[in-house]
Amino acid sequence: MIQQTSITGEQFSQSSLQTYLDCKQAYKLRYIDQLTWPSIQVDPQLENEKQQVEGIFFHKLIHQYLLGIPQASIDSQVLNNPSSNIKDWWTNFIFAINSNMLDLSNYSHKFPEILLTQSFGRSKLVAKYDLIAVREDKIHIFDWKTNTKKPDHLAYEQKIQTILYMEVLAGSGFANRFIKNFQLSDIQMTYWFSNFPNQSINISYGEDKHRAAIAEISSLIREIEADTLYPKTDNFRRCAGCVYRSYCSRGIKAGFEADLTEEEWNDQYPAFEEDDLFSDF
Ligand code: SF4
Repeated sequence: MIQQTSITGEQFSQSSLQTYLDCKQAYKLRYIDQLTWPSIQVDPQLENEKQQVEGIFFHKLIHQYLLGIPQASIDSQVLNNPSSNIKDWWTNFIFAINSNMLDLSNYSHKFPEILLTQSFGRSKLVAKYDLIAVREDKIHIFDWKTNTKKPDHLAYEQKIQTILYMEVLAGSGFANRFIKNFQLSDIQMTYWFSNFPNQSINISYGEDKHRAAIAEISSLIREIEADTLYPKTDNFRRCAGCVYRSYCSRGIKAGFEADLTEEEWNDQYPAFEEDDLFSDF
C-alpha cells in the first residue's frame, strides 16, 4: 500500500476530499506524491490566472471590510483595480449588504478567514472559513463564491465543502464558547454569489445531517486509506482542465475552458487551496 505522505498528513480538507471524489488519481498525484503540475489548466492561460487572481483579491476586499477597514479605503482599491469583475462584484457586495440581502448586522462576533480543526478518529479535519458570524442563538458560516453560473441548491447542499464545514464547526467545540446550550440546529451556512447577489443559498443543520455527515466523511476517509490503485476518472472532460494530465497520458497541451461545463470549471484542481497551506495547528 502506498503510504500517505501528503502535505496535510492524516489531515483532510474540503479540497483534498473533493479532489478524491473528482479523481482518485489526481488525489494521489497531488496529496500523496506531492507532484507539481506540469501542464497549465486551460487555454488561454492568462485568462485562467486572471480569474484566480481576481477571486483571491475579492476575498481579500471582503476580509478587509469585515475587519472594519473604512469602506472608502476599500473603494479606492477597487477603483484602482483594472478588473471590471472586481468592480461589479464589489458593487454587488455593498448593494447586498445595504439592502440586507446579505445581512451581517445582527451578530455579536465575526471571525473572517478563520481556520478550525476537529479530531476525527485517527485523522484531523480542517476547514478554512470565509466568515463565521455568531450571535446568542445562531452560528452562521458564510462562503463567498465568484462563480459565473449559479449552481442549484441541492448540489450545494450535497457538496463535501458544505458537509465538512458544518461538521467541523459542530465538532470543533467552537460554537459552545459563544452559545449557551448549543444545538446543532443553531448552525446555518450561506453561500453568497458575487455574480448573483440576491440568490444566496441557505443551508440549515441538525441531528440528522450531523449523523449523515459523520457517516459520509468516515466512509470517504476509510476508502482513501484503503485505496491502493487510485484509478483515473472515467470523466475525460474533467481531464481537459486538469494540471496533471501529462502524467496520465491524457494530453500535454492546455485544455480549453470552452470544453468544460460550469461545474467542471469551478471544480478544477486549483493551483493551491489556502487550507492546504496549513500543516500544523
Ligand atoms: S488527467 Fe484526468 S485522470 Fe489524470 S489526474 Fe487529471 S483528472 Fe485524473
